[in-house]
Amino acid sequence: MAVGRGVTWLVPTDELGRRGVGHDRGDLEWVRGYDLVMEVGAELGGELTEPAGLVSRGRRVGIMGGTFDPIHHGHLVAASEVADRFSLDEVVFVPTGRPWQKDEAVSSPEDRYLMTVIATASNPRFTTSRVDIDREGPTYTVDTLRDLRAVYGPEAQLFFITGADALAKILSWKEAEEIFAHAHLVGVTRPGFVLSDDHLPPASVSLIEVPAMAISSTACRERVAAGHPVWYLVPDGVVQYIAKRRLYRKDDVPGI
Ligand code: ATP
Ligand code: MG
Repeated sequence: MAVGRGVTWLVPTDELGRRGVGHDRGDLEWVRGYDLVMEVGAELGGELTEPAGLVSRGRRVGIMGGTFDPIHHGHLVAASEVADRFSLDEVVFVPTGRPWQKDEAVSSPEDRYLMTVIATASNPRFTTSRVDIDREGPTYTVDTLRDLRAVYGPEAQLFFITGADALAKILSWKEAEEIFAHAHLVGVTRPGFVLSDDHLPPASVSLIEVPAMAISSTACRERVAAGHPVWYLVPDGVVQYIAKRRLYRKDDVPGI
């Protein structure tokens, strides 16, 4: 966090008891999840000194990994429901770079990243991360969690969100034990799959029911390829992005 003259200063507690750090006087922003634990650096001769210390209360961050080719309302509802049930400060969507489980061609990382940004932009608690698409080589969840741990810091509480199909396979993922060390797993229901934690270490996972959305990216791709609509299966902006970039289309099929 940049601290210096005219850049960052500490502000008093507000009416909700929050304390925060402001950036640029006209653009006050509360930094959620942090408490000021030591006294503010004194203002000396008009110059602000670095604050004595900030400690994190532990920002609660959900992580929704996926190929997102394209992102659809099943992903978004699952993330929203987990955010509500676990009082998360943020859910970060992480489009995979090269998914090691998927042999078939996937759309370019930039297209999948941009569709994810479009789909998440209107929700103040949703963000999109480039950690996986910017890393060389195949994407492994353990690397995702290491990178996000570095971004959010040791105090953050990470919740890794997976649908029932992905949860069933998690022990085959690289360095599964380290995944459990970094994040609490949240398995969510998905139509057509059985949600079970029988194969997982006790206390490492919570299972929750989310509104059933019988949608898959595969079905969305197939619909576009066959000339059928994906309106209301994916956010409107994603429908338009797919059309604009002519994703999933066979050249002879007209329409969205
Ligand atoms: P594809 O058909 O290409 O595999 P997908 O719809 O399964 O796509 P992914 O990007 O593979 O989407 O999934 C990312 C994560 O979202 C996984 O954990 C998956 O289980 C979960 N997920 C996907 N669709 C749903 C859904 N409809 N309901 C609940 N969870 C879902
Ligand atoms: Mg899938």
